[in-house]
Amino acid sequence: MEFYKLSLKELQDLVKTKQVSKKEILDCLFKRIEEVEKDLNAFITLLKDNSLNSLNNDDKFIPIAIKDNICIKGVKTTCGSRILENYIAVYDASVIEYLRQEGAIFIGKTNMDEFAMGSSTETSYFGITRNPYDLTRIPGGSSGGSAVAVASGEVPVALGSDTGGSIRQPAALCGVVGVKPTYGRVSRYGLVAFASSLDQIGVFARNVYDAAKVLEVISKYDWRDSTCVNYPKEEYSREVLETDEIFIRNLKIGVPKEYFVEGIQKEIKEKICEVINFLSKEGVEIKEISLPHTEYAVAVYYILAPAEASSNLARYDGVKYGYKDMGEKMSMIECYMSSRNQGFGAEVKRRIMLGTYSLSSGYYDAYYAKAQKVRRLIFEDFMQAFNEVDLIIAPTTPTTAFKIGEKIDDPLQMYLSDIFTIPCNLAGLPGISIPCGYDKNGLPIGLQILAPHFKESRMLKLSYFIEKNFKFEKILNKYVV
Ligand code: GLN
Repeated sequence: MEFYKLSLKELQDLVKTKQVSKKEILDCLFKRIEEVEKDLNAFITLLKDNSLNSLNNDDKFIPIAIKDNICIKGVKTTCGSRILENYIAVYDASVIEYLRQEGAIFIGKTNMDEFAMGSSTETSYFGITRNPYDLTRIPGGSSGGSAVAVASGEVPVALGSDTGGSIRQPAALCGVVGVKPTYGRVSRYGLVAFASSLDQIGVFARNVYDAAKVLEVISKYDWRDSTCVNYPKEEYSREVLETDEIFIRNLKIGVPKEYFVEGIQKEIKEKICEVINFLSKEGVEIKEISLPHTEYAVAVYYILAPAEASSNLARYDGVKYGYKDMGEKMSMIECYMSSRNQGFGAEVKRRIMLGTYSLSSGYYDAYYAKAQKVRRLIFEDFMQAFNEVDLIIAPTTPTTAFKIGEKIDDPLQMYLSDIFTIPCNLAGLPGISIPCGYDKNGLPIGLQILAPHFKESRMLKLSYFIEKNFKFEKILNKYVV
């Protein structure tokens, strides 16, 4: 049987009712990986032996792939970077610990833009990952490997991280579900830091229920992350199943006019409007809203995220761990410089330079401090909007998957791929992308839903409803399940 085509829920049911063993399922997943991986390159490290050895007889089972910036003890954690090429994690991230308790089997570590900086998974030291809908196109990023692993049936679910859209954007471009929870909902302990005030771990899945299921496992208070909020545990998967007409008819949904600006691909705009019309017919109240500071979001993000990154990445100095230039007769400073110069790729160096510049004493007030103030205004836009509406609907991306190489030499164009996902991170809100159709080339389009802080369950319920009732024919090919 082709177990790789089944959802997490279906696989769990088969294991629970003892119709199939976990080993049979894993064998099938690894066979699938063997078939498609040479063309897709979704993984940096595969954990075949580890996963087969960690099987036991209980009926808990979550076969899952993990983005390579989340630590699994004893396993290489490269962040897609040469500087961590041989780094072996010495402890489990908290999310890994929580998943283990629920029977997780870690299938492998997925490819990503170096240190999660990028929107295309082209900046990885370990090669590019390809979009399963069209191998000449990028899968989105930075969690491109996780998105592709899920879309192609290599795994039913995966973890990623989202600092400015790195879960929702690749999910949209690969036709899968991607959830970024509220900042503070999921522990970042053991997630390699990029921009600490924005980073959140989240989930990829092929349907909303599976995403809810994994999200509820990792949404747990953790004292080891001081920004993790002690918020009651929620059963997202049970809640999505309870979605009913009354819930839907009582919803008020905001459509921000700033998210339908010029430059957005026509078919994306049309599809999102189709979903909005469909919801309106189902009795949802739709309201046009304004998030007036949206136009500053990308600029604010590209000051704050590099500033935080330049500080977080100072630890990679060729001394404590990671790549070291062993050249002879080097002074200490020369060794630092050379190790960093060789260990980091071009985009990471660009961010470090941007960040140290905007934090330097002469420019701090003009850039960093100013950006913090505008971040607050963006936050307040959302708070104002959520006084009037329960959820916000918008496109996830301005375009569908672009060609490999198309934007890699044009950082500004690349940065604009996250124009619709970044504001959510700046405000710390939960967001999700769900598939809602295709463009004329058969490339997936993502619909984004944003919710108030800690209202993940409301967001998941609407997503579940749309998935169940807004029907469109799925495009499959030999790489897509
Ligand atoms: N593409 C954005 C960046 O390069 C977001 C990345 C992310 O969310 N990790 O910073």
